[in-house]
Amino acid sequence: PGSLDSHGPARVIAMVNQKGGVGKTTSTINLAAALAEYGRKVLLVDFDPQGALSAGFGTNPHELDVTVYNVLMDRKTDIRDAIITTDVPNVDLLPANIDLSAAEVQLVNEVAREQVLERALRSVTDDYDIVLIDCQPSLGLLTVNALTAAHGVIIPLTAEFFALRAVALLVETIEKVQDRLNPALQIDGVLATMYDPRTLHGREVVGRLVEAFGDTVFETVIRRTIKFADANVAAEPITTYATNHPGAEAYRQLAKELISRGGAP
Ligand code: ADP
Ligand code: MG
Repeated sequence: PGSLDSHGPARVIAMVNQKGGVGKTTSTINLAAALAEYGRKVLLVDFDPQGALSAGFGTNPHELDVTVYNVLMDRKTDIRDAIITTDVPNVDLLPANIDLSAAEVQLVNEVAREQVLERALRSVTDDYDIVLIDCQPSLGLLTVNALTAAHGVIIPLTAEFFALRAVALLVETIEKVQDRLNPALQIDGVLATMYDPRTLHGREVVGRLVEAFGDTVFETVIRRTIKFADANVAAEPITTYATNHPGAEAYRQLAKELISRGGAP
């Protein structure tokens, strides 16, 4: 995949799993950095009040006055005033902080409460090729907003047995959103993360994923390595922190796979 002459309209992808610690934020950062290497202009949306995605780019989310929260809750806030650039060329960020935790409750009283994020993103989708939404570990109203705004869903999953059980509930939620709010929503892929090739069960879990999800499982598997935590401390994607590391190569391969599936035009 080469670079692009023009940008937009963006395809929107929600990174979703209601379990925490499965690699959503890590995959959002590194997939974005890899897609940007391939010439895509990427907007990242931090949709977790923990602000881990924002912190992952070296911003201190608690010092930000204008975040995704203001964009959602105050119609006078221009999304462009909340979006910040990152040190990674072609990757911008709509940050979040703990303010966002109030939105889950406040949105309940909004008109068309599931479509608030979709409406907010509309004015910038022509500026980007891809929007990646890093969801919080929940299937609540914020995540439903992300699924309503999205064209596709990527489900990061640890290569462990207990990770498989949660997926049924997630797929049910995706189907409800398809039925009622966003018929065009598709599952772009299931991504096995934190894979340890030395354990038998890891291989078995990947096998079971393929049985359950067939072709939607990405061929790319992300191995377990401490380098991701190191890169996170340095507030960099692994693609720049350790550019030739197998972990960086894995996210480049994922980006290529997504592009070749039509998931990142
Ligand atoms: P989530 O966003 O789903 O909660 P994170 O991406 O924050 O998950 O990952 C949880 C923790 O696991 C973080 O400390 C992160 O650095 C680490 N981590 C993520 N991916 C890997 C991996 N492939 N190998 C080892 N550690 C990882
Ligand atoms: Mg996270």
